[in-house]
Amino acid sequence: LRPAQGERRETRSTCPYCGVGCGVIIESQGVQITGVRGDPDHPANFGRLCTKGSTLHLTATAPVTLQTRLLQPMRREHRGDKPRPLGWDAALEFATESFAQIIGEHGPDAVGFYISGQLLTEDYYVFNKLAKGLVGTNNVDTNSRLCMSSAVAGYKLTLGADAPPTCYDDVNHAGCIFIVGSNTAFAHPILFRRIEDARAANPALKIVFCDPRKTDTAGIADLYLPIQPGTDVMLFNGLLHIMLWEGWTKPEYIAAHTTGLDDLKATVRDCTPDLVAQVCGIRKEDLFTAAKWFATSPATLSLYCQGLNQSTSGTAKNAALINLHLATAQIGKPGAGPFSLTGQPNAMGGREVGGLANLLSAHRDLSDPQHRAEVAALWGVASVPDKPGKTAVEMFQAAADGEIRALWIACTNPAQSMPDQNTVRRALERAEFVVVQEAFSTTSTCDYADLLLPASTWGEKTGTVTNSERRISRVNPAVPPPGEARHDWAIAVDFARRLERRLSGRPEPFDRARDRPVERSLFPYTCPESIWNEHRESTRGRDLDITGMSYALLEKTPLQWPMPEGATQGKARLYEDGVFPTPDGRASFANTVYQPLAEPRESRYPFSLTTGRLRDQWHGMSRTGTLGRLFGHVAEPSVQMHPQDMRRRLLAEGDLVHVTSKRGSIVVPVQASPEVGLNQAFIAMHWGGDYLGGCSSTGHRLAGVNALTTSAYCPSSKQPELKHAAVKILKAELP
Ligand code: SF4
Repeated sequence: LRPAQGERRETRSTCPYCGVGCGVIIESQGVQITGVRGDPDHPANFGRLCTKGSTLHLTATAPVTLQTRLLQPMRREHRGDKPRPLGWDAALEFATESFAQIIGEHGPDAVGFYISGQLLTEDYYVFNKLAKGLVGTNNVDTNSRLCMSSAVAGYKLTLGADAPPTCYDDVNHAGCIFIVGSNTAFAHPILFRRIEDARAANPALKIVFCDPRKTDTAGIADLYLPIQPGTDVMLFNGLLHIMLWEGWTKPEYIAAHTTGLDDLKATVRDCTPDLVAQVCGIRKEDLFTAAKWFATSPATLSLYCQGLNQSTSGTAKNAALINLHLATAQIGKPGAGPFSLTGQPNAMGGREVGGLANLLSAHRDLSDPQHRAEVAALWGVASVPDKPGKTAVEMFQAAADGEIRALWIACTNPAQSMPDQNTVRRALERAEFVVVQEAFSTTSTCDYADLLLPASTWGEKTGTVTNSERRISRVNPAVPPPGEARHDWAIAVDFARRLERRLSGRPEPFDRARDRPVERSLFPYTCPESIWNEHRESTRGRDLDITGMSYALLEKTPLQWPMPEGATQGKARLYEDGVFPTPDGRASFANTVYQPLAEPRESRYPFSLTTGRLRDQWHGMSRTGTLGRLFGHVAEPSVQMHPQDMRRRLLAEGDLVHVTSKRGSIVVPVQASPEVGLNQAFIAMHWGGDYLGGCSSTGHRLAGVNALTTSAYCPSSKQPELKHAAVKILKAELP
């Protein structure tokens, strides 16, 4: 893409922040982005944008942003050195040599790829094939593991496939909206606007909000359930207990379309209202109200996010909520069903291409020999390895233990975003070779890179993303990448071809001047569309079949999967016929047994610390942190506490406090917040870097809240517990 100087253009694309997946129109002049506005024709947002989306053009062009872009490949001779520029050819040869040597000496499982829910589907596809099809390791995982893997496991366990059965339009048809573990007002603002509209249009609509924190989302609720951290399974089992007792379930639906309720009944029999009220910290009458509204509303829609997912009981929490929908037949009709909201713009696309350590292309399972054989045939490789790959937490633990020796990290910042930062940073230090493929030079992870590869970013990339409602949208470039930055898919393909030749022993160098596929390469791609077409073919006959879509069709309008060949449109809702993608066509109740928190509060660590998003910031702030106006909402990090807890500890607003868990300690100002429950605390996830103090022994920049969080994870989904860590909070001594 080389627009003529001064040429004014408008480019349809997609917002790169949250999983709502709003359509945007990028205005540009020459190679400069000049504006952004909501796409009135995009079915996710109909022209609306939130504060983050509407300032995209400013973050893209802010002077600070331009200073922080990586513009050419850089290499460090020694850790701690200033990186020095080198050409792309030398950089990728260096990477190829280093990976080939480690693979040759220690086997394919000695390397790992850690990628991102902010990559496009095409980028994801190449990395997945590179690891599983070429290198021969399943050590490819993503920061979506921190975001969505419990939702994946919950859907598969109960409904038989990783497919949200609902759509945004269901908000307009629901009689009851049950929001749990989601600060929708901040994390998915445009969806929240739709909920506000639905509320205004339908005075009979009941909204239940359930969360330990009384966030802005609570403001729209008719009923707020201030649940104790980690007790969601007990709550959902208790609601089912009441529904069964009161006769509010739908026996005909259960008999015709489900299995497994008898075992679950035995479990929920003990979840009496008295017990649930006591464990969850909720009034009994509120439990009855919530159960009644959920079960007897004409249509109940559940919206949920990290409060369920980021937990050592993540899969059970998801499944226990879906159990309620199955028991009450609140699924498969307009306005009803369980609807997991994706945090990142393309967490769904990563799941679709199987870009996680336990998945394969098109929702296939690595553990299924038939699925491995199908993918091997699709890719034209002898086999796909059967050994499970390392998931996010496992991958960094394995690197810290010396088992994984080379890491390729693309479009994510684990040195800030992963839990238990001491272990993650030890892993990055110990790894023999670390490649960081990034648009920005300012992420903490860049400090650990032996090789930095400059990548393109929003406004520059071509491809597709899938939002929370299974809708695939095009991402289009308005301007070319700056400097020598290249697209993520192109970097991965170039490296893959070099490694392919190196591992196969074929001597001929890649002829970039001819810019044509290497003969017999597994990676014969010349553009993102050629990658997407291969991905599309892999979905044929699968639950997410998109063989009826094309880039050209998606250019006209975003489409929801499935849309098999011959279909004229995608499917808004799933399971309307009551048939589920399981061997017997029935959904399964999961026998969800409540497990207390893995790290309970105790006398030395008496507070339950939770983390979350702010309205105007995104992840590690490499983009939103460049714009002053986005600090107008919240200017600096703090730990929020209940005013009563502050009084008990003689803390005043703004006092500096040490917040300490078993893993680390940080210093932040304290802020009184009635949103936070007693014995609880909240720190936003966005700040890291120099501000917060923490593990400074390495000389690297310091960690944020993830110095405190735990890497304990759900045994099924391997998603870590970012919503609770037991901490103590003590006033810091001034020097
Ligand atoms: Fe972007 Fe999400 Fe805001 Fe939409 S709601 S504009 S996708 S951040």
